[in-house]
Amino acid sequence: MPQNPGHPTIAIDGPAGSGKSTVAREVSMRLNIKYLDTGAMYRAVTLKLIRKKADLTNLKVLEEILDQTTIQLGEDKQVILDGEDVTAEIRFPHVNEMVSPVSCISLIRRRLVAIQQAVARESTRESRGIIMEGRDIASRVMPDADFKFYLDASVEERARRRSKEQREKGLNLPEDSVTAEILKRDSIDSQRDDSPLTIVADAIVIDTTGMTFAAVVTKIIETVNMDFH
Ligand code: C5P
Repeated sequence: MPQNPGHPTIAIDGPAGSGKSTVAREVSMRLNIKYLDTGAMYRAVTLKLIRKKADLTNLKVLEEILDQTTIQLGEDKQVILDGEDVTAEIRFPHVNEMVSPVSCISLIRRRLVAIQQAVARESTRESRGIIMEGRDIASRVMPDADFKFYLDASVEERARRRSKEQREKGLNLPEDSVTAEILKRDSIDSQRDDSPLTIVADAIVIDTTGMTFAAVVTKIIETVNMDFH
């Protein structure tokens, strides 16, 4: 049973292109709970390190850069890095390419996980409920979440979705290069030592291949509501 009926805590994990962001945002609006896209936080840090041309092996330098970094996430997709709106740039190929290697660094994960857990605590204190999506939400950030979903889809479908998203932003990348990028990120994200992408034992796995986003949203909301009654 959820600990706080009406204000659930929901973890959504899954690989790149599984539809987590679109689905989680819609669920948050329908249930009127907070939404946190943790991938956007890793992307913002990655962009900062790219701009600083940081040596990823120099932990002292990384720590100094992190100390001087602020990330704000608006309720409406907006990502502000040190006061600058980087919502579009964090989805560009140069960030896609570097985000998984950056996300392997434990120092960076520790910092971001602490912020994510503080956001979760705050939403519980405010009796608001939260849906948080990423790779390690059920396994590390919110292991006590009321609901844990793992969204998956075939590689072909995930690449199709990502290509469509990128075309809508005016980026015309060949589908095979999108597939290669997704596979590379999947492999790094699921094989890293610190909090790899994994399916926890009590996760509800949804294979979204061939499903519309609306159908996935309905399934999640039905599951959550069913447990409340
Ligand atoms: O979700 P999204 O594809 O935007 O995430 C970008 C990258 O951020 C992932 O490929 C992964 O390397 C990293 N990430 C992570 N842990 C999370 C969320 C994202 O390592 N909780």
